[in-house]
Amino acid sequence: MSRTASLLNDCFLHDKDRLRHAEVLDLLKERLTTVVGTEECALEEALGRFLSTPVVAPRDVPLHDNSAVDGYAFSHADYLQSQTLRAGPVIAAGDLEHYAVGDKQAARIFTGAVIPDGADTVAMQEDCTVTDDQIAVPPGLKKGANLRKSGEDIKSGEVVTPPGKRLRPQEIASLASLGLSEVSVYRRVRVAIISTGNELVEAGEETPIATGQVFDSNSAMLRALCASLPVTVSRLGIVPDVASTVEETIARAAATHDVILTTGGASRGDEDHVVATIDRLGKRHAWQIAIKPGRPMTFGQIGDCVFMGLPGNPVAAFVCFLLYCRPAFTILGGGEYIEPTRFPVTAGFSIDRKKPDRREFVRGWLTAGDSGPVAMKFERDGSGLISGLRAADGLIELDEETRSVTIGQTVSYIPFSEFGL
Ligand code: AMP
Ligand code: MG
Repeated sequence: MSRTASLLNDCFLHDKDRLRHAEVLDLLKERLTTVVGTEECALEEALGRFLSTPVVAPRDVPLHDNSAVDGYAFSHADYLQSQTLRAGPVIAAGDLEHYAVGDKQAARIFTGAVIPDGADTVAMQEDCTVTDDQIAVPPGLKKGANLRKSGEDIKSGEVVTPPGKRLRPQEIASLASLGLSEVSVYRRVRVAIISTGNELVEAGEETPIATGQVFDSNSAMLRALCASLPVTVSRLGIVPDVASTVEETIARAAATHDVILTTGGASRGDEDHVVATIDRLGKRHAWQIAIKPGRPMTFGQIGDCVFMGLPGNPVAAFVCFLLYCRPAFTILGGGEYIEPTRFPVTAGFSIDRKKPDRREFVRGWLTAGDSGPVAMKFERDGSGLISGLRAADGLIELDEETRSVTIGQTVSYIPFSEFGL
């Protein structure tokens, strides 16, 4: 596996009993680093990848001054003397011949065609009156009108995309406009996904399910969440709550992955073997994070493999993935971590008593109100209710100081799109 750096030893070590949300993020940003190597990637395959080397423009875009419209190109100085000009050459886009306009002459020109020597202004064809070989151009055109200057989109030598940039269709368009067909990107982070729990069974229509059993929904959910990041996922399936099996699966996964992501079994119940396994194989830091939904989470490392143990409850696993795994995978994968934007909106719901000293992420969505967007929340709180996630388009963030919410008050809303969903 190509790697650029190793993790710090004991990279999640901290001295607090309970961490606030912001402290967890600070720790991730401070301690994690890019671990993956780089590779060349066809531009067409580069969507969503993190650029590893800045792209410096090898040439101007556009390469030449060209017409922004179908019309007539002429010298503005001539036009100031006479608004009637003589018909000159006809120049189409893609015409590679070299053209010039003579004294008081206007070239017939089409959108994208190279501006002929001597011309610096274009009049739109709709505004011109053409008779025989005379073109009457309307008054009031400024020098440079309807003309696209060479390099006005991208200047030769300009840094078009910095390293760490997540390549979106717009970046891909820019790089293609420079003539590039390959880019250097960070290799995808290899993520192993494991669901733990004796009660779990693999989803499938043929699967018999008994009272007391639960279909594993977390594996499919996490794989889908991972799809918004440049990672490759190995789904290692369901591991029962048997110490030796948990240990064997995790040890095997650590040898071939950058990250192991588990759900379930991360609390201190007797059946929770994940915690004990990480203790035996590597370093573990069980994080009491002052958030809801969320606890318990386990962060650790086995050699150079990061371990992130998410809660088994699907809603908690989903929220914690967005809050902590997404930033971690971004940093490990060479990406620039951008904090999701919070939007102030009006609360369309109330909460009588919220526990202070913990940050809550409530599943919600926006509706249009008289004076701007209004946040609504899913009425039931249970962290097993995937329906709440389904109803939601984002998270309403209630910070540590908030003790209640009244209708009409301003709350902070993070659309799921801020998490790349
Ligand atoms: P745990 O964290 O193992 O104590 O699990 C907490 C709750 O989440 C229990 O009700 C589990 O049945 C449920 N759960 C754990 N893992 C999964 C999973 N992979 N898919 C669906 N539910 C799960
Ligand atoms: Mg369990």
